[in-house]
Amino acid sequence: MPYVNAKEMLADAKRNHYAVGHFNLNNMESVRAFLLAAEEQRSPIILGVSGGTAKYMGGYKTIADMVRDFMDFLKITVPVCTHVDHGTYEEAMAAIDGGFSSVMFDGSKYPIEENIAKTREVVRRAHEKGITVEAEVGAIGGEEDGRIAMGECADPEQCERIASLGIDFLAAGIGNIHGKYPANWPGLRFDVLEAIQKKTGDLPLVLHGGSGIPDEMVRQAITLGVSKVNVNTECQIAFTEATRAFIEAGKDREGRGFTPRALLAPGLEATKAKCIEKMTLFGSIGKA
Ligand SMILES: [Zn+2]
Repeated sequence: MPYVNAKEMLADAKRNHYAVGHFNLNNMESVRAFLLAAEEQRSPIILGVSGGTAKYMGGYKTIADMVRDFMDFLKITVPVCTHVDHGTYEEAMAAIDGGFSSVMFDGSKYPIEENIAKTREVVRRAHEKGITVEAEVGAIGGEEDGRIAMGECADPEQCERIASLGIDFLAAGIGNIHGKYPANWPGLRFDVLEAIQKKTGDLPLVLHGGSGIPDEMVRQAITLGVSKVNVNTECQIAFTEATRAFIEAGKDREGRGFTPRALLAPGLEATKAKCIEKMTLFGSIGKA
């Protein structure tokens, strides 16, 4: 069964200058949508799960089991990875025990020494089970209102220290932002990305906040060493807009449109279409 960690898929992406999409699960419809998109497009895929989604969908074990059972049911043949998104130390450990194939431990809010100590422990526990680990380095301190328009940037020296712990891939701020980007956002800091890559060698880098970065910048980031791009907001909006259109057109009041499956079907299709659009941008189509 092609339920795998992220090691091989990201190494291949790095070698061949494309990126694997990390798409966040939000509900059962998103599991179906992303698996079907990946299979149809012959693309590897990473399914991300935030702490909130883990609670909503019944915990890490329920989700890992659900993904694997769906893969069986849908006869998925492309590599699929389940991954914790911005996990706390406890969440990362729970996912390791729950059958996830990959975890992110986000220690970026801790002082660097504490981030290093906790990341080291997550790596030890995860690697015992063949689970890959993404770590995150915190921001360089900057003035407050500079940060409103500009996302945070990581310190390349700290990236090098975290990279040396044996992590499998690294998230480091290069001016990217989670959620919607302000109109006056100055863009990604490719100079910071290059400086980080110089310090971290072949380690695949991760671009968070992939929703709303102009396509050209995403392509350039991939050229410079980003091998995984996280997308959540855009898929959520696609789902909700399609659901809204269904209701506004009165289709929930026609025939059996009131059934939850009928109501959520357009959202599922829209999520799948958005996922394929992103896979196209990342260059992962046909790579599995
Ligand atoms: Zn993120």
